[in-house]
Amino acid sequence: MCGIVGYVGRSEAAPILLDGLRRLEYRGYDSAGVAIVNGKGVETRKCAGRIAELANLMAEQPPSGNYGISHTRWATHGKVTDDNAHPHFDASGKLALVHNGVIENYQALKEELIRDGDADFVSDTDTEVLAHLIGKLYDTSGRGNGNTPPQSEKSRLVAAVRAALQQVIGTYGIAVVHSDIPDFMIGARRGSPLVLGVGKEENFLASDVSAIVAYTRDAVYLNDFDIVAVERDRFEISSLAGGGADYRVSKVEFTAEDIGKGDFPHYMLKEIFEQPNSVRDAMRGRLSSEECSAKLGGLNMTPAELRDVERIVVTGCGTALHAGRIGEYLIEQLAQVPTEAEFASEFRHRNTPMIGNTLVFAISQSGETADTLGALRESKRKGYRTLGICNNVASTIARESDGGVYMHAGPEIGVAATKSFTSQVVILTLVALLLGRMRHLSTADGSEIIEALEALPGQIEQVLKLSDSIKAVAKKYASANGMLFFGRQHNYPVALEAALKLKEITYLFAEGHPSAELKHGIIALIRPDLPSVFIAPDDAVFSKNLNNMEQVKARKGPIICVTSDGCAEKLKGIADDVISVPRTLDFISPILTVIPLQLFAYHLAVELGRDVDKPRNLAKSVTVE
Ligand code: GLU
Repeated sequence: MCGIVGYVGRSEAAPILLDGLRRLEYRGYDSAGVAIVNGKGVETRKCAGRIAELANLMAEQPPSGNYGISHTRWATHGKVTDDNAHPHFDASGKLALVHNGVIENYQALKEELIRDGDADFVSDTDTEVLAHLIGKLYDTSGRGNGNTPPQSEKSRLVAAVRAALQQVIGTYGIAVVHSDIPDFMIGARRGSPLVLGVGKEENFLASDVSAIVAYTRDAVYLNDFDIVAVERDRFEISSLAGGGADYRVSKVEFTAEDIGKGDFPHYMLKEIFEQPNSVRDAMRGRLSSEECSAKLGGLNMTPAELRDVERIVVTGCGTALHAGRIGEYLIEQLAQVPTEAEFASEFRHRNTPMIGNTLVFAISQSGETADTLGALRESKRKGYRTLGICNNVASTIARESDGGVYMHAGPEIGVAATKSFTSQVVILTLVALLLGRMRHLSTADGSEIIEALEALPGQIEQVLKLSDSIKAVAKKYASANGMLFFGRQHNYPVALEAALKLKEITYLFAEGHPSAELKHGIIALIRPDLPSVFIAPDDAVFSKNLNNMEQVKARKGPIICVTSDGCAEKLKGIADDVISVPRTLDFISPILTVIPLQLFAYHLAVELGRDVDKPRNLAKSVTVE
């Protein structure tokens, strides 16, 4: 959500900043802007709309300079307008600032600045307050008097940023430049991600490394309350409180090529097709045929500690929560540990009584989801052990949890999550297997599960071959007014996830429900222009699903059914369209049944002319509450 890119070096900043913003496009945004500094002052271009429009503005009047900052905005305070786009300026017009996050006490700070006659505001954003506040503190302090010598301009600006941020309540990732201080920028974070890219005679700031990996693979993932002063050939990290701060320069594990689209028209399609590999990578080195169990060293828990777990809470948002809901079924079935999957946003503010030995899983692809991070911190505060399931190894959730399991799925750029979902479900299956094998699950059960997991990548290949026929089904329903999705047990969360995919990228109204709920109200919606999609593999509840399909058919509702190979015959005369996936164990089937529905949503969105990789109003990594 929103992107920041900053540059100090010897090259022209404009193309680097623009390229970085394009690479952050996937995060979701509504406006874009740059501030580039040269000997004459700050040159700004900004506008509501796409980066392509900003690029046009920059082409008409190219800004020149060797340092600058840039931003894609995802509006929280103030409409989506040119004036509200970042960067924002202080009263002198020399200090430019970009910001990701929310300044919660902006109103009080703004009133004070206005009362003291220190600022004329030109935008409705919370961010502009911070620009004025830093500018005011920079102009009025540290200049020296009879008792104290004047500080350097760089130290004064760092001190002004620190003093301003100490007054802020809320979240921020910021980058600041000042036209009086050449080749210098400041970054700071609290709650919103910010990375320092360390290059040769050039340094970068970015919301995530994908923006800068084409220039350097050395990165420092800043911590909350870090302030970094960045020059061409040096940087200094200090804490908000004033002292030094610990940091580590790490190597980014992927390259710029890894985040290309390859031959695919969209990232989403590329990522759907990557699932045989991403699922394999989620299991790699984690299956033990000898012990008929899973090995998850990253949990940082002894077997005795794992056996003593009395309750599990799985928390996340959106797709990650749907994976968590499958985990709820898996862990209870295989390990008989009471488990609850809960919206991170609700869990963190709900005063859930947690019995003694509760283990909390926080699931987030980016590892930066603000609500999930909030739930993790609240659980830690209460003294519970927290484990992360993340894709981004350097993310805040990965760093702040007591242990966890990485997805190793590679960068996911498509806003609609696909491969991260199947990786999360695989990992939760491994957790369930491990906990189960410490309890009542036999070696025979364990090996059967391992065999089923190992067969998955090949079976996913089979499902992907259906892409063209699924496209034909999607075309057939392109004029539908909305869709309902139904499933039972392990496949009920697949119904939720399939409905979410459809909503996200086609903008059609869609809902997911347990199949049996149909007769408790939803059946009133059934009509010929509202198709129902049933996820009904040949499992223990297949015949019950069949009954529900009959109920829809009797009311003239069209039916699409995702089922197991060999079931088409049983669905004759009931389902209008059947998509069959290979057979596997009941509780592993969601990994196979969800893929046709990812493809279905994708093809339908393309058919409707939607912007699949950048759906309206959505952000990839939701770093605000
Ligand atoms: N709260 C700021 C605004 O609305 C920043 C939003 C963002 O993170 O892009 O402008």
